[in-house]
Amino acid sequence: MKTTYGKIKGTTIAEIYQTLSQKNQDYITEFEAWKKGSITDKRLALIKNSLIKFADLIEMDFADANKTDITIGWNIIYASKELAVKSKQDDYLHIRQFYKHAFGDDEEYPRVVRGMKRPTQKGHLRLPKKLPSEKDINEAIKMCRNPRDKFWVSWTAFDSGVRPCENRALTWDDLSKDEHGYFFTIKTAKDSGDTETRSIRVIYSEPYLFELMKSYPGETKRSNFVFCHLGKPSIPLAKDSISSMFRRLKGRISFTGDFHAYTLRHFCLTRMSKNPKVAIPLLKKMAGHTKNSNIIAEYQHFGDEDVLEMNLAAAGRKDLKKDYELKQNPIRCPHCDTSNTYDAEVCGKCNFALSQERMVDNEEMQKQIEELKNIVDKKNKIYDIEVKENHRFIKEHLGISDSQLMKAQKEHLIAFQKRVERMEEEADKAEQKIKNKEKF
Ligand SMILES: [Zn+2]
Repeated sequence: MKTTYGKIKGTTIAEIYQTLSQKNQDYITEFEAWKKGSITDKRLALIKNSLIKFADLIEMDFADANKTDITIGWNIIYASKELAVKSKQDDYLHIRQFYKHAFGDDEEYPRVVRGMKRPTQKGHLRLPKKLPSEKDINEAIKMCRNPRDKFWVSWTAFDSGVRPCENRALTWDDLSKDEHGYFFTIKTAKDSGDTETRSIRVIYSEPYLFELMKSYPGETKRSNFVFCHLGKPSIPLAKDSISSMFRRLKGRISFTGDFHAYTLRHFCLTRMSKNPKVAIPLLKKMAGHTKNSNIIAEYQHFGDEDVLEMNLAAAGRKDLKKDYELKQNPIRCPHCDTSNTYDAEVCGKCNFALSQERMVDNEEMQKQIEELKNIVDKKNKIYDIEVKENHRFIKEHLGISDSQLMKAQKEHLIAFQKRVERMEEEADKAEQKIKNKEKF
């Protein structure tokens, strides 16, 4: 029994094969012939690799190894730090399949392999240290060269978080519409072990979908690919084009961290997993993960600070930070109801002016109207008070002597004058405040 598993530097699998016993070579050849045709050639090569390396490790004929030999050998593979879990799982599968075929009549796993422990993939995700912000993504969208790329980035980062291969497979057949708008039905990538489909709405990226539809080089129908080769609707965007698109974008945006196709998926799922309105089982479904997968939890990477915030929010001392919400939302045209990009000046459909500045102005104007109303109210109140004051004065002073009345009237007028002056001063100040605002 060797103490380490795997290829030694400088040797090839074919060379290792030559060092095996004739019996082991025959076993491998026979198993290979038996499997050929039922699986892909790539898988066949992997099986052969596993068996050659395992025979090399245990240093005895497959038939002579007892349960202890196989368990000890397997545990060396199981403990190996150089191997990925995925390749250990492959080895596990191949070795057991081989033993079942050669020594279990193809019906059951023989006793000798029953001590092998299956390597499990703990939900593990290597998230980049620094994720782009909403602003960074919007900057990337601006730097895209065409509506197709703009929609790819916005749809993936803001709405769906779908895998790049799932995006590439999308056709216009997968697009549906209900009373709330468009949604895509995605065929979940098979590698995840899930063969279901899932539907995801187009919300934040809707304006970019419209732009893509307007400039699409063909009919936005049937099996034409949503993300197609420029000018060729029936050919999906090539894998290489996606990598180069992200390389290009990375060079043009101010964000300095990792920026590749999967970054958008991470951005989307991280944001959504922090939203208390999003149920984790549903987010799993949306991400195309299996029910047993635990990967979604890893997207949350909560820290101490988050717990401290939560304590305050739960006790009603503070509102929960809402950094999971997008700030730059599409603007719906008040005239034709079309959804436009957050920074659109005019509606893409009907040319209605949508400028954000104008909307800010509107808000400012509303404030001024409110203040003017207050001034008018104040002036009306002054008037009411004075009318009442005069009535009271007349009632009080009916029947007194003329000289007394003269004196009282004078006092009353002086007091009245003072009140009016004070109130007018106040009204002037308020008016001046509004005028000053207008200047800026
Ligand atoms: Zn419009």
